[in-house]
Amino acid sequence: MYDYITISSLNDFIFCPYSIYLHNVYSGNEEELVHATPQTRGKAAHETIDQKTYSSRKDEIVGMSIYSNELGIAGKIDIYKAQEKLLIERKYKLETIYRGQIYQLWAEYFCMTEMGYEVEKLAFYAISTNKMFPVEIPTEEDKKELADFISKFQDFNLETPIPLNENKCRHCIYSNLCDKTELENVYT
Ligand code: SF4
Repeated sequence: MYDYITISSLNDFIFCPYSIYLHNVYSGNEEELVHATPQTRGKAAHETIDQKTYSSRKDEIVGMSIYSNELGIAGKIDIYKAQEKLLIERKYKLETIYRGQIYQLWAEYFCMTEMGYEVEKLAFYAISTNKMFPVEIPTEEDKKELADFISKFQDFNLETPIPLNENKCRHCIYSNLCDKTELENVYT
């Protein structure tokens, strides 16, 4: 049986599967070493959620742990507005919405609905611009796409070849620790 995959790692896996391995190796004691600028901002964006201090409104649920047995995933939501049946994922900055970020929101949606919550609307919220970005509720076809992606993630191992992409490596917080490249990231 597979371990549950964390929802927050879906986007990282699309970016580079090897970064998941490096994250697992260097997280914890070496946290300050690997949290370069973009992730530090992202982390701050989630801090109030993680500490459950974002909202005291009774119709809002923040930072709740979620899971889906069907998809084999687990994580936490940012905000669920019960009255509006709206699920929101906060990002510090959002100029482009990447497929991995969409997968993250879909994953949260499928966890919530499997857990019995009604969700009729999805959105990203960009803190830096105070803007909401609505996202369509996923279809059955979208669910299959997500499930196939999760299967690939589950089947990944370190023998799988990593296609190198110079631009990604230069924007990867792990590049200074990565044995696949000599490139330094743009944050140093
Ligand atoms: S530096 Fe490049 S190969 Fe290494 S984890 Fe980052 S993106 Fe992947």
